[in-house]
Amino acid sequence: MKKKAEYWNKLSENRVQCTLCSHKCILKSGQKGLCTIRGNLDGILYNLQYGESVSISSDPIEKKPLFHFYPGSMITSIAPNGCNLDCPFCQNYEISQGSVATKYISPKKAGEISKIYNSIGLSYTYTEPLVWFEYLIDAGEEVHKQNGLNVLISNGMINPEPLNNLLPLIDAVNIDLKTFSEDKYRKILKGDLKSVLNTIETFAANNIHIEVTTLIVTDFNDSEKEIINIAKFLSSINKEIPFHLSRYFPHYKYQKPPTDPKILIEFYNIAKSYLPHSFIGNFQNIEMESSFCPACNSLWISRQGYNVEIVGIENNKCKTCSKEINFPL
Ligand code: SF4
Repeated sequence: MKKKAEYWNKLSENRVQCTLCSHKCILKSGQKGLCTIRGNLDGILYNLQYGESVSISSDPIEKKPLFHFYPGSMITSIAPNGCNLDCPFCQNYEISQGSVATKYISPKKAGEISKIYNSIGLSYTYTEPLVWFEYLIDAGEEVHKQNGLNVLISNGMINPEPLNNLLPLIDAVNIDLKTFSEDKYRKILKGDLKSVLNTIETFAANNIHIEVTTLIVTDFNDSEKEIINIAKFLSSINKEIPFHLSRYFPHYKYQKPPTDPKILIEFYNIAKSYLPHSFIGNFQNIEMESSFCPACNSLWISRQGYNVEIVGIENNKCKTCSKEINFPL
C-alpha cells in the first residue's frame, strides 16, 4: 500500500526532495530514498510501505527496552522494512536493510490490535518507524481513539518540523543514541548526531516519557570518553532519564567480538554516577537490570530478563524514604 508523502518539495524534471530527515534525498522519478520507504513516482513523493508491517507480535514492554513505563506490561509491536541509517553492526539488518514479506495493517486495524492480549498500546519498533511518518500519524490517531498508548523505538533521525507534528500522538519513546561523535554518525552510520540530540531534547521538553539506549560496540564507541559525554548530556536534560547500555554481538557487516562484559560493567558504573536509572541489556545481571531509589538506594523494581516485580514502591512513593515516583506504573 502506498500513500502520498508529507514533507517534500517538487524540483525540476520530475525530481523531488524529501525533507523528512536530515538526508534531504533528491530523487529522480523511480528512485527510492536511503530509507527505501519513501520514493518518487512520476514526480510525487510517496510512502511506499504505508501500513506494511514485517510482523505483529506481543512483547513485554521491557523488551523495547522501556523500564519505567508501565513496568511488567505487554505491548503489541509492528515494524516496516527500512531505515534511514546504515549501521554496519545493525542487530536487525534483515528487515532494516533488506526487504522481507509484509502484511498490510490498516490504521483502524492498528487501533484494534493495540488492545489485544492485554496490550497497553502499539509500539512502532525493530526498524525505523520515523520514516513511516504518514502511517504513524494515521495509526497513532486510531490507537488513541481506542485509549491505547503509542510507543516509538527509534534512531531519532527526523527534522524538527515533522517531529513537532508527531509529538501529540506519542506517549513514550526509546531513542538509540549510537555515539557522541558527529564524525562517526556521518561517516560510519550515514546519520546526523545533531538531529538525534534535538529529538531527545524535544521529547524531554514536551514531557513525553523518554528512555535512551546505547549499544556498546567493540572498537566503535567503547571508550570511557564516549560514555561520559553521553551520560553528561542526558543528565543535563534530566538526571532521571533511564539509560540502557546494551551488549553488542557480531551482526551484518561488523564482525568484531561481542562487548567485553568487564567494559559493560565498568561503563554501567560510570553511567550510574550521572544517571541513577542506568541499566545493562543483552547481559544477565539482576542488580544491573533492576531499578533503585535515587535517594535512598532501596530496591524499587526487581528484574531478571522479563520477570518483573515491583517491590519497593507503594502509592507512587518509595516505600523506604517516600520519594515520589515520576513514571507511570
Ligand atoms: S526520510 Fe528517507 S527519503 Fe526522506 S530524506 Fe530521509 S532517507 Fe531520504
